[in-house]
Amino acid sequence: MLRVAVVGSGPSGVYAAQTLVQQREVPGVHVDVLDRLPAPYGLVRYGVAPDHEKIKSLQNNLRTVLEDTRIRFLGNLEVGGPNLSTTRLLDLYHAVVYCVGAARDRTLGIPGEDLAGVHSATAFVAWYSGHPDAAAETFDLPNTTSAVVIGAGNVAVDVTRMLARGEPELAPTDMPHPALGALADSGVRSVSMVARRGPSQAKFTTKELRELGTLPHVATHVDPAELTLDPAFTDDSALPAVARRNLDVLRTWASAAPTTDRTITLRFYLRPVELLGGPDGHVTAVRFERTAPDHHGGVVGTGVHEDIEAQLVLRSVGYQGVPLPGLPFDPATATVPHAAGRVLRDGRASVGEYVAGWIKRGPTGVIGTNRPCAKETASSLLQDAPALARRNLPDDPLDALRSAGLHPVEWPGWLAIETAEAALGRSLGRRSVKIPDWPGLLTASGATDHTP
Ligand code: NAP
Repeated sequence: MLRVAVVGSGPSGVYAAQTLVQQREVPGVHVDVLDRLPAPYGLVRYGVAPDHEKIKSLQNNLRTVLEDTRIRFLGNLEVGGPNLSTTRLLDLYHAVVYCVGAARDRTLGIPGEDLAGVHSATAFVAWYSGHPDAAAETFDLPNTTSAVVIGAGNVAVDVTRMLARGEPELAPTDMPHPALGALADSGVRSVSMVARRGPSQAKFTTKELRELGTLPHVATHVDPAELTLDPAFTDDSALPAVARRNLDVLRTWASAAPTTDRTITLRFYLRPVELLGGPDGHVTAVRFERTAPDHHGGVVGTGVHEDIEAQLVLRSVGYQGVPLPGLPFDPATATVPHAAGRVLRDGRASVGEYVAGWIKRGPTGVIGTNRPCAKETASSLLQDAPALARRNLPDDPLDALRSAGLHPVEWPGWLAIETAEAALGRSLGRRSVKIPDWPGLLTASGATDHTP
């Protein structure tokens, strides 16, 4: 028997657990999937936008895996925290696979980032997704008419779309009721999504981009002059297919915007240099420097500036891995050093420690990218299994965790949260609605002691 802990119940963690129990070479693998939160599914629950129901339905696939009898979900356990160190975990399991993602947003490093009204897209996403750590976040949407989103990746597209959507489209989702109320009262009329490079270099994918043009009562617009600044505009034959398709979509938006309730404007070749504030310490505009292509995929500054008015600014410039106490960390890449998923300590594979997902390869790719990534890690672990399995372990790690004063939320606890969310939705005349705070989640799980 080989007992494995997977830390993190997002896609990479669940795919790692699935690979480990479904293979045939090493019999008797049992996996505990640990999560800091009492709810599973990681970014599928707390990152995929609530209006993306099809992607969210991936939760059903992850659920099937977590209900396998050889896998146990243990929520409300913070690995690397004061009560459960990485060393202790290795005492309890033959191997540990860290799938802890990339939890932090990147910053711009320009003046004014601490002004009121300037937030990370990560915080906005966490808030509308009901992440319990974001329960105290507030966004002054009623007093915002113009918002600026900095960045041109899929997260930027998500937050732009959520700002532009109306209440009737959001009410059927599972977003928390306070967030729905705040978005329903939003004064936002104009959202500018701003990229520092050209349209052919934007990171968003075409399906996500195209959706911006389908939102009810929203006009989506691109300045044709900014499109033609891109050398690929006139000859896109050398571009990757996604970039070519993106340009095709953008071309259709390059005519004058019709008058509608809300406008989305995509801007290119503008790099943020400063966030400007009023005397009350609230952001009023973003100052950008016009850039020009350097013909090597990058841009150069032109010294020409443009201010775009905004009462709300969301920086959406990518996620970043966070060091987990007890695990090595490469600050240059914000990932854990590894070889084919084996954690490296001082250049050597650390016995029994593995990584998968964003903490292994950085915050890139779509959900499906995690499957081959997790498989590679699981294969390394299975190759090491004969040596790992020689170690004698305590009978059941769950007993040891409980004796250490920890209060794991097991699968029935999670199912109780789901039931409570369905009941909350019914009481509000909506479908299932997320419980957005720690006490609410833990109470719903049936936990009597709320200490993590
Ligand atoms: P991303 O794809 O890496 O995009 C980051 C954006 O920020 C890029 O446009 C980048 O521009 C820009 N940027 C970085 N530093 C900047 C700076 N200092 N000033 C101005 N702009 C800056 O990151 P993401 O949008 O956070 O997405 C993370 C991953 O999640 C991606 O793989 C994404 O596809 C995935 N995701 C997928 C979906 C979906 O499939 N629906 C939804 C959400 C997220 P440069 O290119 O010039 O560096």
